[in-house]
Amino acid sequence: MCIEPFYYICGRCGFKSDESRLWGRFMYESPTGLVEIARQTAWCESCSDFSPVEFLPDTGKIESLEKELSDKKSLIEEYRVRVRQGYSWLDRLLRKQPRLTPDLLKIDFKCSDLERQINDFKRIMPVIASRKSPPRCLRCSSTECFIPPKFPSADLEGDDFTRSFTIRDSSVSYERQGKPMNLMHPHCGGEMYSVSSGIYPYIRFKIRVYNSEGEFLRSESMNKDW
Ligand SMILES: [Zn+2]
Ligand SMILES: [Zn+2]
Repeated sequence: MCIEPFYYICGRCGFKSDESRLWGRFMYESPTGLVEIARQTAWCESCSDFSPVEFLPDTGKIESLEKELSDKKSLIEEYRVRVRQGYSWLDRLLRKQPRLTPDLLKIDFKCSDLERQINDFKRIMPVIASRKSPPRCLRCSSTECFIPPKFPSADLEGDDFTRSFTIRDSSVSYERQGKPMNLMHPHCGGEMYSVSSGIYPYIRFKIRVYNSEGEFLRSESMNKDW
């Protein structure tokens, strides 16, 4: 499949990371089959780069997501009840369904997202039940990873603030606009910008399989592109 990866470029030192290193399918091997790994973007000291890093859910995290889901569902249900109260006898007879407002549609969409996340986390919990090591980088297996700090002045500049970068790829160089990511380049302090690469490489993803300690075991080909 062809997808355009973004470059993440530091506005201070010019460090350039390729978004595609975050992409891929990462799975735990378990007695019941492969289980999708929950991951987050973090800084890996060993890679000296942004990496996909395991996120290890616990029961507290699942409970807080379930609470958030139930609060959001109550909001939608309260709205539906309120709207139905204004219905005529004909509306009721025709079993008319209240149409959600754009804001509530967004909340409804978020509910589906939360449900999927909760189910994913519940599948992961038995796999990592006796886990000893902290989250690992899914590129190099290092545990020296942390969530990079936010860049403090981003709020002042706003989302519309852009900056021009010169990209050099092999023998070509071109100008691109970068958008601030509200993210700091660790150990440097510069702000990271996301810059469209303008290239569409053909990528065939492989499934990367890990044991329950997050250690890489093998790659497996996928039948499909994704
Ligand atoms: Zn930097
Ligand atoms: Zn790494």
